[in-house]
Amino acid sequence: EFVEFNKFFTRIIDRFEMSKSRNVEFIRLLPEKSYFVDIDTDKLTQVIDNIISNALKYSPDGGNIRFGFTVHDNMLRVMISDDGMGIPKENVTRIFDRFYRVDRARARSMGGTGLGLAIAREMIEAHGGKIWAESEEGQGTTIFFTLPYELDEAGDWE
Ligand code: ATP
Ligand code: MG
Repeated sequence: EFVEFNKFFTRIIDRFEMSKSRNVEFIRLLPEKSYFVDIDTDKLTQVIDNIISNALKYSPDGGNIRFGFTVHDNMLRVMISDDGMGIPKENVTRIFDRFYRVDRARARSMGGTGLGLAIAREMIEAHGGKIWAESEEGQGTTIFFTLPYELDEAGDWE
């Protein structure tokens, strides 16, 4: 399904912002320009839901979550950034592995299965994109993912 990315992303962010119980501020850095993506909207919603849930889960009270996207190397690059506890350097690539959680104590108190990001990676790769994280312990985490885009809703007909 072809959807306009800003509209699609905004709707998901709005849903979280309306229902959140945490004192965490949402900051949107979203371009006005239209970018169309050909996606399975249910699956991409699941991916973004997991990333936002993680950001909320690991954010401190009074923290910020920033949402943005840009174009890089002909791909839409989406970023969701928190200023939570972060992830130790040696574990940053492993968070996309099945059942991987950064530390057992943290994992137990936070709930979850450790599958969210593994599923996200599968889904993003199935859409022709990539997903990765940058994180600084004690400073925060940014999750990036990319998607192919078109500038035109009827991209195929050009
Ligand atoms: P599930 O998503 O299945 O409920 P989960 O959230 O623990 O469980 P993932 O979403 O796959 O699993 O995340 C894997 C691990 O990566 C988490 O357990 C956590 O240790 C770490 N992690 C993910 N996102 C963040 C973040 N924004 N800040 C700090 N750690 C994170
Ligand atoms: Mg998760």
